[in-house]
Amino acid sequence: MIEKGSRVLLVDKRGKRYLVKVEDREFHTDLGILKLGELIGKPYGSRIETHKGETFVALKPDINDIIAKMKRGPQIVHPKDAGIIIAYAGISPGDTIIEAGAGSGALTIFLANAVGPQGRVISYEVRKDFYEIARKNIELAGFSDRVTIKNKSIYDGIDEESADHIVLDLPQPENVLPHAVDVLKPGGYFVAYTPCMNQVHRFFQALQEYRDYFMRPRVVEVLVREHEVKKECMRPKTTMLAHTGYITFLRKL
Ligand code: SAM
Repeated sequence: MIEKGSRVLLVDKRGKRYLVKVEDREFHTDLGILKLGELIGKPYGSRIETHKGETFVALKPDINDIIAKMKRGPQIVHPKDAGIIIAYAGISPGDTIIEAGAGSGALTIFLANAVGPQGRVISYEVRKDFYEIARKNIELAGFSDRVTIKNKSIYDGIDEESADHIVLDLPQPENVLPHAVDVLKPGGYFVAYTPCMNQVHRFFQALQEYRDYFMRPRVVEVLVREHEVKKECMRPKTTMLAHTGYITFLRKL
């Protein structure tokens, strides 16, 4: 049921989307004015009309809607990469994840969604401005209960005594290896997302010293090819989000 203060995703006949907070107020669109208060007490999926008779559907927003509309600081981890991180590391409800850097909080939100209400995500972010952005975005996604953000550098150490997995999106993941070997549970994953090949190379050089702690590493990059589906023509889209990053998976022995 939609309550006063809930967020809804309003979708118009063209598929245009608005993420709004439901209150007794007007919301202006190019298709006319909506009275958002009319949604209070109605189920998600309800229709609402503008003063011009145009219909909008009010959906319950999912994490992708929140991430698409939230404020951004640094570049986010895209769903294609977040999905493979969660799947390959076997991230499950109830897990405790150490993450860094939180950045805009997108990957934090994917991880918090995967670990569920019984799980925990502890995310380190060295920059105060990004820490603030991530904190607000996590609140917007409704995950403040299961996420702790720390405004500090993970290179200086990990405060927590143990973690099921460590997930990193920062320039020098090799600086976290000495802390990870103490904190990561056997069977857990150390995941490093890095945009550049030379970062992967540097990481593997540093890894030589820690090879006995981990199973054979795996490095992947993820390409998703979307298709255009039209009545007269179905084919791959002519543009795609190609390279984003390399993802390195190390499993602790
Ligand atoms: N994964 C994030 C997301 O999906 O929104 C984006 C992360 S952004 C590309 C990298 C972040 O790492 C930056 O916000 C940066 O300030 C942070 N960072 C860099 N070094 C760090 C460190 N030593 N400890 C914690 N955070 C760090």
